[in-house]
Amino acid sequence: MGFLSRLAVCLSAIVALYACGVGVGPLSVSAAELARGPVGPLLRVAIIGTPDDPRIPVVREALGFWNGELSRLGRSVRFDSGTVIANVPLPEDALGAASRAQPRPWSVYFNARLRSSLGGVDDEADVALSASPDIISFGVPFEGRDRHGIVALRPMNRWPLTLPNVARNVTVHELGHLLGLQHNADARTLMCGRPAPCRPAAFTSGVPRIFPLTPNDQAGLRQRWP
Ligand SMILES: [Zn+2]
Repeated sequence: MGFLSRLAVCLSAIVALYACGVGVGPLSVSAAELARGPVGPLLRVAIIGTPDDPRIPVVREALGFWNGELSRLGRSVRFDSGTVIANVPLPEDALGAASRAQPRPWSVYFNARLRSSLGGVDDEADVALSASPDIISFGVPFEGRDRHGIVALRPMNRWPLTLPNVARNVTVHELGHLLGLQHNADARTLMCGRPAPCRPAAFTSGVPRIFPLTPNDQAGLRQRWP
């Protein structure tokens, strides 16, 4: 490949990184990277917060949704039901810094710093129930045994999580990022987000419902997970 072709490939990769914004994980995760559950590879989830937090049942509902989708797509990997960890103080400063950095390329640095702040927890996925009114919910993909996935959720008494059906879909959406899904521009779907004008308030619905995945999301999950 000539110099100009190599330069073009590099530039397009940099543009893609900027546009995607979330960390770039392996294209596929091997079962060897995961814990072993009773029936197959397992993503163990630590829900870090107080046991009476109203977000805990919402997180468990979201984990159940994803297990249903993974099963439907013929994947063997599953989330566990999540263990509530109340004795680990949340690193709110690192959470806030990572939240502000999403979805810019330098979020990679702040995500790594956040991972090491949460490093004492042995699992594949951390769900941080932030008490900060300033945080914007976000999700960081699982990228291997030493690079666990992270979801941070803002308090449920803060807009837009106070709107009906929004907390449910925001939680499922952020877990979608943890599974490696990226944003699209279709406002009828779960993973619509920046730079498209989709915002969490668009998940509002009088009837409880989880927005659908795109065919591209489904293909990504089939490719990425055992
Ligand atoms: Zn998102």
